[in-house]
Amino acid sequence: MTMNEFEAGLQRTRTVLLPFGSVEEHGPHLPLSTDTFEAYEVCKKTAQRIPLFVVPPIHYGNCRSTACHPGTISISTTTLKGLFIDIVTSLRSHGLRHFVALTGHAGGGHRMALQDAGEELIGRFDDIAVAVVSEYDLAKEEGRGLIETVGDSHAGEIETSRILHSHPQLVKGSAPREFPSFPPGILIRDKRMYWPGGVWGDPGKATAEKGAKLEGLVVCRLIALVQELERMGNSAAH
Ligand SMILES: [Zn+2]
Repeated sequence: MTMNEFEAGLQRTRTVLLPFGSVEEHGPHLPLSTDTFEAYEVCKKTAQRIPLFVVPPIHYGNCRSTACHPGTISISTTTLKGLFIDIVTSLRSHGLRHFVALTGHAGGGHRMALQDAGEELIGRFDDIAVAVVSEYDLAKEEGRGLIETVGDSHAGEIETSRILHSHPQLVKGSAPREFPSFPPGILIRDKRMYWPGGVWGDPGKATAEKGAKLEGLVVCRLIALVQELERMGNSAAH
């Protein structure tokens, strides 16, 4: 997109999607950028259906449970918060008013940092509306009837299906099912000891068809969310 295209786009919409991902191990079979791909694909497809800006994806996220696995590059929650606040503040100065942070990475600290930043932003600017959504949660909720694996979460049936659909050339076969368990309440230094394969769920149940359906379902939910946010944002501004 050029400067002129950006300016022309403001005549059509004041809403922007911000895809957040992570650089994080996703088992022996999925790329480190899995979460980023998932969020970015959904944002691009949504923008094909309704007028929206999509910013370049924020590739880095805060990863705790996979921090010891090779390939994971984690940033602090403070840095993540700062990125979100700075990007929204800059976009607002250009006239954007509705912001949807859509995260493909669903780590607890990561999500909390985005939520904190969003709260800070709506406190600071009274002319904006902000949503913070985990696209993984949307896929899980919407895909209830499709997903066979109980407790599927990381690099399992859902995520393997998604990447088989969107980036099949990057999937290196499959991986054994794995359901790690960590001692409750105790903080573990070497998390890889308790989670050797880096998979949580069953990649063996994944298919590209499921991935396509899940992606479509997330896009539909996102369209509804954007419309709701725009309605609320517009009425708040009057
Ligand atoms: Zn993931």
